[in-house]
Amino acid sequence: MTAAALKALSQANPNGFVLFVESENTDTAGHANDAASLMHSLWAIDDAVKVALDYQRGSPDTLVIVAGDHETGGLSATYAQKDLSSMSSSNRFYTGDAQLRMLGGITMSFKTAAGKLGKKPSGDALDALVAKHFPGFKLDPDLREMILTQKTLERNHTYAVQNILGRMVARQTGFYWGTGGHTGEPVLVGTAGPGADLFRGYQDNTDFGKNLHRLIEAR
Ligand SMILES: [Zn+2]
Repeated sequence: MTAAALKALSQANPNGFVLFVESENTDTAGHANDAASLMHSLWAIDDAVKVALDYQRGSPDTLVIVAGDHETGGLSATYAQKDLSSMSSSNRFYTGDAQLRMLGGITMSFKTAAGKLGKKPSGDALDALVAKHFPGFKLDPDLREMILTQKTLERNHTYAVQNILGRMVARQTGFYWGTGGHTGEPVLVGTAGPGADLFRGYQDNTDFGKNLHRLIEAR
């Protein structure tokens, strides 16, 4: 889509253009606390950035900006206990390649899973879905009960089934989430090309739009 948009816009606008490309699911997956779905969305935006940087090589007067409008979910790649037998550090694992591979084996987004399970899933349907689409994952009895009795994980984790599946994945991968909502975490901005320096340093989020205005008005 990015390649097609660049082709159409550059042909129709010899004096320049602005193209906005969004991988929206980074937000939706954050709300769902769905690390595997997030990973796929990050790969998608990574592909789009590569297309933009390719275009820039042929048109060096292009500024490429990669940014997020906010963070969602308070994701932390951290650690977890292997089981509840001991609190000692020898009973811990930290997120790494093995855990990323587990995420890579997941074949369904939490959003789709929640839709498939519906309002009142049976225990059998839930177990079958987890076994088929979340290979290697075990739904602990407390989490399983929450889904079957339609409870939410916490007062700030209100995406019922999705946030609970997120906790299942967190316990076995160490990818924990702090909320089902947005956070105030600063976001990284990456830029390349003319005007890139305007986006350096720690800035207020409203400065971002002012910088864009300045660049467009300067033309
Ligand atoms: Zn959002």
